[in-house]
Formats: sequence, structure tokens, C-alpha cells
Amino acid sequence: MHPFLDPTGERFGVPTFPWGWSRFFDADLRTKAQLRAEGLSIAGLEVVGQVKWRSNRAGNIGGVRTANLYRRSLARPVRPLSPARERSLARAYLARCTCSGCGRLWDVCLPTSNGRMCPTGCANADELLAVAA
Ligand SMILES: [Zn+2]
Repeated sequence: MHPFLDPTGERFGVPTFPWGWSRFFDADLRTKAQLRAEGLSIAGLEVVGQVKWRSNRAGNIGGVRTANLYRRSLARPVRPLSPARERSLARAYLARCTCSGCGRLWDVCLPTSNGRMCPTGCANADELLAVAA
């Protein structure tokens, strides 16, 4: 038995494979680097296993390196910010800057502590905006 082979996770806590072996047990498993190479992200993915291999690279404990394994079938494409996500963030930002009382748009975020209203009250808002402008 290979010292790093533990497909059930009995010894290591999570299913563990020697480097390069995982695909023989579960073809869906990938490391972060492998997912990145395919343009996929580990965001939101659970660690479902690990690979271990011997390495003499400085700084390793006991000369063994470990990489987490994730499910490729659950991975999403890496996308910095989709147009839809960008729009929804912009809307959320606008909502934070819009007075819930009079609907004036401020160039700062309004605090929720005062109910997201004009800082000095809606009645005085025009004066304040005039001073700021
Ligand atoms: Zn207002």
C-alpha cells in the first residue's frame, strides 16, 4: 500500500491520493492549478480530497507537499466580473447612495443607521448639496 493512498480518507481525514493517482479513482477530481489551467475557479467549491507527493523543496514539513482536490463538474468558469454581476453591483451601489426618503442621489454612501436618508434631513439637502457642489 502506497503511504499516500487513502481513497476513503480513513487515515488522512479526506480521500488522499499520491500525485497523479486520483484520476484512476475519481476522474472528476482536480487540483486548483489544474482547474485554473482549464479556466475554472475553485470559488465556492468544497475540498473533496487531497493529493500528496514527496518534494525536497525547501520549507516543507517532512518533504511532503499536499494539494487540495475539488470536483471539476461543480467548478465554474473564472470570470472577473460578468456584465450582469457588474450591473447588479452598480445597482446596489446606487441604492446605497440614494436617499430612501426623497430619492436624492448622493456621491457618498448613506448610512443605514439613519435609515439611509439625507445626512442633514431631506428638507436641508438642497443647501448641503449646493455647498458641496
Ligand atoms: Zn432625502
